[in-house]
Amino acid sequence: MYNFNNAEESAADGSRISRRSFIQRVAFIPVLAAGAAGVMAGCGGKEAETESALATCENYEGLSEQDLNLRKTFNYVSNSPNANQVCSNCALYVTPEAGGTCGGCQLFKGPVNPGGYCTSWAQKQA
Ligand code: SF4
Repeated sequence: MYNFNNAEESAADGSRISRRSFIQRVAFIPVLAAGAAGVMAGCGGKEAETESALATCENYEGLSEQDLNLRKTFNYVSNSPNANQVCSNCALYVTPEAGGTCGGCQLFKGPVNPGGYCTSWAQKQA
């Protein structure tokens, strides 16, 4: 712990640092913390954006119990376990309307994440 009563304090390596030097170093910590927080917020923003898109595609309001069960029957998941097999490259995928994020599926009702997957995936023909 720094002793503010002394103009100098011993550093870990035995050298002496001045009070001014110590204060300058300590004052720099909030600047680093703010920078790190900004970087983290940037990452969180992208993540939040992705989560928001997922949340939208997982809004099953208005679907009946039967509709929901049908989705389960096909083992639909919002995030495909295989990057090469996703709803957006499936023959049964219904593309979103202009400006939309979530598509649909010809097999069941409700929103479908382009990155989703189900066991009925079939390669879309070019
Ligand atoms: Fe996605 Fe399955 Fe529908 Fe294909 S059949 S679009 S993989 S939910």
